[in-house]
This record gives sequence, C-alpha cells and structure tokens, in this order.
Amino acid sequence: MKYDIAIIGGGPAGLMAAVRSAELGAKVILLEKNPRLGIKLLLTGGGRCNLTNKILDPRAFVARLGSQARFLLVALHKFGVKETLEFFQSRGLKTKVENNNRVFPASNKASDVLDVLLKELQKYQVEIRTQSPVKKIVSQDNKIVKIVLTSGQEILANNFILATGGKSYPQTGSVGDGYKWLKQMNHSIIFPQPSLTPLLVEADFIKALEGLSISEAKLNLYFGAKKIASSSGDVIFTSSGLSGPAALDLSRSIDPEAIKDLHLEVDFLPQLETSALDKKLQQVLASGAKQIKNSIEGLVIPKFKPILFKLSQINPEKKSSLISRQERLALVKLLKNFKLKIKALAGFDRAMITSGGAVLTEIDPRTMRSKIISNLFIVGEILDLAGPTGGYNLQICWSSGALAGESAAVGLKSGL
Ligand SMILES: Cc1cc2nc3c(=O)[nH]c(=O)nc-3n(C[C@H](O)[C@H](O)[C@H](O)COP(=O)(O)OP(=O)(O)OC[C@H]3O[C@@H](n4cnc5c(N)ncnc54)[C@H](O)[C@@H]3O)c2cc1C
Repeated sequence: MKYDIAIIGGGPAGLMAAVRSAELGAKVILLEKNPRLGIKLLLTGGGRCNLTNKILDPRAFVARLGSQARFLLVALHKFGVKETLEFFQSRGLKTKVENNNRVFPASNKASDVLDVLLKELQKYQVEIRTQSPVKKIVSQDNKIVKIVLTSGQEILANNFILATGGKSYPQTGSVGDGYKWLKQMNHSIIFPQPSLTPLLVEADFIKALEGLSISEAKLNLYFGAKKIASSSGDVIFTSSGLSGPAALDLSRSIDPEAIKDLHLEVDFLPQLETSALDKKLQQVLASGAKQIKNSIEGLVIPKFKPILFKLSQINPEKKSSLISRQERLALVKLLKNFKLKIKALAGFDRAMITSGGAVLTEIDPRTMRSKIISNLFIVGEILDLAGPTGGYNLQICWSSGALAGESAAVGLKSGL
C-alpha cells in the first residue's frame, strides 16, 4: 500500500498538515509515537491553549518574531491568523481575545482545539497510527523512499511531511528525532536550545519568594552596566528563579555563553517612575505613627515584605515617621531595580519551545518543501523559527502545517 502523503508527528503542525492535505483529496497516514495525538497541544496555555495572537496583518505578525521570520510570510498570507480563526470558528470553536491579543477557546479548554482537528481527520479519513514511533527515514538520490517504524513495518508514500517538533518537554514525545534524520539527509541544523524557559537565579532568599506572582512587572536585562533587553508582563517567582510570560520572553535574549556577565533587574512598579514612587513613599511614610510594615500596605505584595525589609535592613516594626531618607531610597531601589544574578536557563524539561532547528534557507517558503529532498516537507517547531509567548508558536505550526499539507497534496495532482 502506498499513501499519497505520510506525516510524522501528531502535534499541531502535523495535525494541521494532515487535515489540509486530506481535505484536498490526498490519501494520508499520520504516524505518532504516543498513544494519543496532540499531547503537548493539550498542555498549551496552562491547559487553555493560547492558539494564536490576533495580529491579522502578516507583516506585523512576522515583526514580532524577529528578522528571519520573513520566511513565514507566504505561509501567513495563505493561512495566517485570519484563516486560522476562520478555520476553528467555522468548525464550532468559540474563541475569545485576552490581553495582548492572545486568543483562547471561549471554553478555556485546549481539548476543544484538539477535538476540532480530530473530527476533521475522521471526516477526511486520515489513517491515524498512534503508538507508532518512526525509527528511520530511508532516502536515495535526494528522495525519501520509505520510512521504517520501530516495529519494523515500512511505510511508503509519494510525499512525506516531517512534524516531529523540537526537544522541549520531552515527556510529550518531542525528543528531537527529526533533527537527526534531517542531518542524515544533508540538511543543516542550527544547534537546538531551550527557549521560553524559566530563569534560574543565584540568591539565598529565592526560595522564600516561591509563589510570589506579580502582574505587569518589568524585567530589565543588563550586560555589565548596559541594558540589553527588557520584557513586561506577569512574573512568577519559583523555588529557583523566575517564570511567567515576562521571564520566559526574556530568556530569548539570553546567550548561555554570556550568562556570567548578565544580571537582571525586576521593576515591581513599572507604572510609577522612580521619582513618582519616591514621592508616594514620602506621603505614605508621613502618615506617622504606623509601623513601616503596615504603612506600605497596598504598595508591596505581602509575600515580598520580609525580603524587602531583610535586604534594606529596615526593622519592619519601625515607625514610618522615623524612616530615614537613606532607608526610603533603599526601598525605592529594591522596588524599582531589584537585582538578581542569573545562574542559568532552565533546560528542555521546562522550556516551552526549542530555538534553532532546520535551516530556513534550505526550505522553499512558498511550499515548505525541502530544497534538498524533493518529496519532503518540513513544518512546525522543528523549523529554525521561534516566537515569544502569546500564541505565536502555535500560529507557526498552523501556518506552516497548512501550507505544507496543501503543497504536498496539490503537488501530487500536478505530478510533482
Ligand atoms: C507547557 C507548554 C505550553 C505551551 N503553550 C503554548 C501556547 O499557549 N501557545 C503557543 O503558541 N505555544 C505554546 N507552546 C508551544 C507549542 O506547544 C509548540 O510550539 C507546538 O506544540 C509545536 O508543535 P509541533 O507540531 O511542531 O510539535 P509537537 O507539538 O512537539 O509535536 C510533535 C509530535 O511528534 C511526535 N514524534 C516525535 N518523534 C516521533 C517519532 N520518532 N515517531 C513518531 N512520532 C514522533 C511527538 O510525539 C509529538 O506528538 C507551549 C509549549 C509547552 C511545552
């Protein structure tokens, strides 16, 4: 039995590729090593699935991903944010837009997003093979001849779509198999690195801050005295460092090689300039008889207070009116420039995505077809494309998957 298209990997990119190609009449087989499809998709957005970012203009969307994301322009023009929303909404998924254009299912259930795709697979009779790890890809004369499963079974097809993802959250099945096969087929790979990953910091008090969650903080990254990057949004302190969207986004700007020269400053109150905060503190402290620990209520989250007093060496029982100028300025500094030394980035087990991957110049952006292996299409996170938090990474999967599915199916009809 020879299929029109064999797809390796049942994550968002592989699922979308399967739906689009089967919709166009191709006979498709989808191979997934897990017992279920879309395991990582179910974890996205904390189980709520931030499925895209509502920036409808492809150029504006690409601008958020960095310079090389121009590669994705054709895919976005053909199946961009607008088409993705129409695809899911016309199949019954109600969506809602939250802050920073982040789109979620109205039900807050990632499983509803997966269900839309699963129903389509069924409708177009895609042959789904779960618990079917691919062991190797056999190619000859720049063409894939067959793929071999660990069971020994061989799968023949005219076209092949590689959608095995990156290396992050390996427990979901994404362990980097695709990189190995691509290298064997003479594709170049940019060394995969954990990205959108928590920051591990060096501070003896960090454990005491575990669970501290600040909405709309600002993180500033310094190389020596020079500010090199910043990010804003929610920050969550963990037992070993910082997580939450602002910290994850900042991890994209951190070169692990240069980490010893970097430090971080947390601005807990970015909406107040330093001078405005100082003025506010002066007013608060002028209230007189209250102890400082009580008078700063409202300005400082309770969980942060013990560390604030420890580091500023101010007795929390001290009367506000007795706080010296020097002590007040120390508080301002800790609230606006809370300095943390970055020890490392968390590894693949905690990284949301993998940066690096299949070199884009070796793939045709008009089709997602490999320029080296004529019947291979490469999609999703395995590509050397990575976006910030906010639904960008799933959109990379929807757009590249749809384009490859379409190109692989249309290519068959035209004999390519
Ligand atoms: C915790 C978490 C939360 C996230 N939240 C969001 C979010 O809200 N919004 C967003 O845009 N992005 C989010 N992401 C990122 C997003 O999930 C990924 O970018 C996306 O899943 C990548 O899709 P993919 O199809 O390329 O690969 P994957 O989802 O990794 O799927 C690849 C599939 O290939 C299978 N596979 C691998 N090797 C083989 C093999 N040898 N044989 C057969 N099958 C194989 C794997 O089992 C896997 O199912 C999140 C990621 C994580 C980890």
